[in-house]
Amino acid sequence: MQTKTALITGAAGFLGSHLCDRFLAEGIRVIGMDNLLTGSMDNIAHLMPREDFAFYHHDVSKFVHVPGQLDYILHFASPASPIDYLKMPIQTLKVGSLGTHNLLGLAKAKGARMLIASTSEVYGDPLVHPQPEEYWGNVNPVGPRGVYDEAKRFQEAMTMAYHTYHGLETRIVRIFNTYGPRMRINDGRVLPAFISQAIRGEGLTVFGDGSQTRSFCYVDDLVDGIYRLLLSDYAQPVNIGNTSEISMLDFAREILELVGNQDAFLDERPLPVDDPKVRKPDISLAKKVLGWTPKVDRAEGLKRTLPYFLETVKTSQTSC
Ligand code: NAD
Ligand code: UDP
Repeated sequence: MQTKTALITGAAGFLGSHLCDRFLAEGIRVIGMDNLLTGSMDNIAHLMPREDFAFYHHDVSKFVHVPGQLDYILHFASPASPIDYLKMPIQTLKVGSLGTHNLLGLAKAKGARMLIASTSEVYGDPLVHPQPEEYWGNVNPVGPRGVYDEAKRFQEAMTMAYHTYHGLETRIVRIFNTYGPRMRINDGRVLPAFISQAIRGEGLTVFGDGSQTRSFCYVDDLVDGIYRLLLSDYAQPVNIGNTSEISMLDFAREILELVGNQDAFLDERPLPVDDPKVRKPDISLAKKVLGWTPKVDRAEGLKRTLPYFLETVKTSQTSC
């Protein structure tokens, strides 16, 4: 059988780099594409010597050209943490809209199957809990998070239009909060923030009263769900996430205990505008159509993640 080739955008980011690893392990050739806006070559340095891996430094919001055969396109490029997309609102809107359009055009030209990284943020501050795929969401289009949420909603609509009108093979994964090694320690997301603050013996910045909830999925579980979805024949959106829900206050306490630094403490800060009050995926559909459930619970996932943060925080302190 001829080797398949996948184009993975956002390849130098957290999720993109783990996807590259998985696809290469499955014997699929990978072309990684990234403009390094929020990613780092460190995440894929180990792949650069490989013959079955190529890297293109390119902004996918501009016309995308890739020579040769392409079987799969996975569009993961986008600022993804609230502080990143608040800092780069226009790039965020462009990569979700223009970038998606460019890649759908490329997929159509190559006859490739396209999978897009959507998000639980399409449900906004949800009024239905947990969130099933049929829920249409509660998003403020002109609030600070609107640039991300609406870009992703547009991305889903554009992808579905290519599926319906051009018959393109498409897949849509709605990703819930995911964590693991290679997250940027200062990307502002709650897990890197709490763990690095705890390691440094600082205050853990709990926003608001910390009663808001999230449900954290370990990266290997997410990547497995994405791989199964890509190979499935299911074109409607599918939630992938872990259903174990926790308040941010309890999560901060859990991290304090995990890291065990007696100097660290809780430091209450104002709640950001439009911060969703609850979030937890309904994963019945993923179970049914993909036979997928998460395997790594939070205790195990945090144990696997901590050494990366200990090393990265130490390196960042010595290089200051
Ligand atoms: P990340 O910031 O680590 O990775 C994103 C990558 O995209 C970076 O390497 C960045 O340089 C690249 N990029 C951004 N704009 C680009 C452009 N115009 N052209 C080329 N490359 C560009 O973020 P992540 O957590 O790995 O997220 C990856 C994808 O998954 C994003 O689309 C995000 O919306 C989605 N997602 C992630 C989560 C999560 O919990 N990590 C949850 C929901 C959705
Ligand atoms: N949060 C927090 N302290 C931080 C960063 C985030 O309490 O230093 C809270 C944030 O208000 C939200 C939750 O943690 O309720 C998850 O935030 P994150 O930025 O990780 O992702 P989101 O799910 O909001 O996109």
